[in-house]
Amino acid sequence: MSVRKITEYPAEVLGQMGKPVTEFNKELEDLCADMFDTMYDAEGVGLAAPQIGLNLRLFVMDCDGIKLIAANPEVIHTEGEQSGQEGCLSIGKVPAVVVRPQNARLRAQDEKGVWFERDAEGYAARAFMHETDHCNGKLFIDHLPKMRRDMVVKRFKKEKNWK
Ligand SMILES: [Zn+2]
Repeated sequence: MSVRKITEYPAEVLGQMGKPVTEFNKELEDLCADMFDTMYDAEGVGLAAPQIGLNLRLFVMDCDGIKLIAANPEVIHTEGEQSGQEGCLSIGKVPAVVVRPQNARLRAQDEKGVWFERDAEGYAARAFMHETDHCNGKLFIDHLPKMRRDMVVKRFKKEKNWK
């Protein structure tokens, strides 16, 4: 298994609606293993397929005790509200405060194609929503007012130039 290169903002694939996962086979299992490797290497808690350049509705996460593979994910229920810092591996982990629901229920298929539902709260619920957004071509900065979104992008570009 291997660590893949992380696709960074403003790559086109990050803004595209992902294609459904239709084949549940060894290739998908290998891809998910690579996604976990890439996520852990980057010290992230979630990673979606568009973040390694694949236009696919698929993510992996390991956050707050919830480790899972989600193909064709949907957030089917949300409740409450939380305000907290969020960052994205595709935007250099530059943090910004995002208001999201406190609880979220995820519906998705595992690597075998079996549908499941999972409830989470707090940080893990935030990961459900952040990663499902990726599968829909949406980034966390799309939830920010324009001025704050511009600030995150500016800081990301600046930090990239320093490296
Ligand atoms: Zn992200």
